[in-house]
Amino acid sequence: MKNIAVIGAGTMGNGIAHTFAQSGFNVNLIDLSQASLDKAIATISKNLDRMVAKEKISESDKNNTLGNITTFTDMNQGVANVDLVVEAATENVELKLNIFKSLDTATKPEVILASNTSSISITKIAAATSRPDKVIGMHFMNPVPIMKLVEIIRGYSTSNEVTNNIMELSKKLGKVPVEVNDYPGFVANRILMPMINEAIITLHESVAGVEEIDTVMKLGMAHPMGPLQLADFIGLDVCLSILNVLYEGFGNPKYAPCPLLVNMVTAGKLGIKSGEGFYSWTHGTKDLIVSPQFK
Ligand code: NAD
Repeated sequence: MKNIAVIGAGTMGNGIAHTFAQSGFNVNLIDLSQASLDKAIATISKNLDRMVAKEKISESDKNNTLGNITTFTDMNQGVANVDLVVEAATENVELKLNIFKSLDTATKPEVILASNTSSISITKIAAATSRPDKVIGMHFMNPVPIMKLVEIIRGYSTSNEVTNNIMELSKKLGKVPVEVNDYPGFVANRILMPMINEAIITLHESVAGVEEIDTVMKLGMAHPMGPLQLADFIGLDVCLSILNVLYEGFGNPKYAPCPLLVNMVTAGKLGIKSGEGFYSWTHGTKDLIVSPQFK
């Protein structure tokens, strides 16, 4: 595999394109508008500058990486001659099903179609194509160029050959792939989201305050940040939607989202992206201040 298409140039798409391009692959980066693509290239360039400044890569590595990326607003054109597609578009079931239906006709029949989805069933996405054996989850972690893990998700029909190919490819990117089966939340979010939900329930029941809960998990469990701060980073709307996938997927009340989380999302308190969640983010990360509603 040499030629890769990445669909979606947002937070994850730009990191995935960066990682493939830095490992020498030709990347066709695809998004709906040229403005989104330009923003993604500017982000990749800034992240590469940071690596040059830290002497992790040279200036010529940076230029080669950028030179390996071509941008497209026409998906059919961008995927026509690639060996692999990694889809990292917005997390929306109908959108992804439509993208995979189109990819099935726009790519050569042997092409592997991977999705970076955090929570949508790979088996469901695969069923929108006529090649379910060649559809697989490639769940990168944010920020992609730095995080080592890739969760490789086998759909119900994903073949051994395709799984082995993608495991080996992930190693070529310098990542550590872990193979998991396609059940709600896969492994990462099935374990992470109930922990975040339990932290919110603990706050909701006034067992302890925001800083106290985060401090217990940071200093007691050696987590780099507490679960409430992490929820602000991920986005409370994203946490709620993944918890609902677990709740509905397993039909088990243990995954029911905390009513406080539901209220915060309804009130537009989404974490960093809205300026306020469990913490107020208007001062930046250096002066982390607990949101006034929890004082
Ligand atoms: P994002 O909103 O930052 O970016 C999504 C991009 O997809 C946008 O630029 C949008 O314009 C583009 N897009 C939408 N429809 C498109 C289409 N039809 N064709 C081409 N581009 C299209 O979202 P994100 O955070 O990068 O998430 C992308 C995927 O990665 C989602 O499936 C998400 O669940 C998954 N994911 C996110 C994270 C994270 O921490 N953000 C971590 C792991 C996985």
